[in-house]
Amino acid sequence: MSSTHAKKTVFLDRDGTLIIDKIYLNDPDQIVYLPGVFEALGRLRDAGYQFIMVTNQSGIARGIVTLENLDEIHRRIRAAFAEHGIEFRAIYYAPYAVDSNHPLRKPAPGMLLKGAEECEADLKSSWMIGDRLSDVVAGHRAGCRSILLTGVEEPDPSAAAESQPEFIVDTLTQAVDKILTVS
Ligand SMILES: [Mg+2]
Repeated sequence: MSSTHAKKTVFLDRDGTLIIDKIYLNDPDQIVYLPGVFEALGRLRDAGYQFIMVTNQSGIARGIVTLENLDEIHRRIRAAFAEHGIEFRAIYYAPYAVDSNHPLRKPAPGMLLKGAEECEADLKSSWMIGDRLSDVVAGHRAGCRSILLTGVEEPDPSAAAESQPEFIVDTLTQAVDKILTVS
């Protein structure tokens, strides 16, 4: 098929990007959405982007988070965004240990590459947004542009190019402003 890999996509980290990072969130009742996230993704949707969530969940490997609860957390997140007319084309999670070096665990690009394969994401016209440098690196390794949300990690200007975000902003709303300005 010649029309595959044609969809511009925003890959979104979960914790610290869409919802407050509770560190190994295992209780679906503890989901707290960050300010402005529904409106921000609504603007990207209107601009023709599809959404794929890509989240490292090493709490599964550690036995702190159960698969049953993780599924319920993601079911509720999908439902909350659906109330605002926003659909996640896919939600991918990497349940592997921090030191696993698994190809699906960020900073490896595996989940984004899966998005290209399964959801026709056109990586070159796509973006990765997250609050960790591992998000930035995963985005770049997949061939996307990356935006770092401030608050947790600082980019090191002397580090490798793959860990230098295209933009550094404070909020998802500001990240969306950047994407809509340059793309
Ligand atoms: Mg995060």
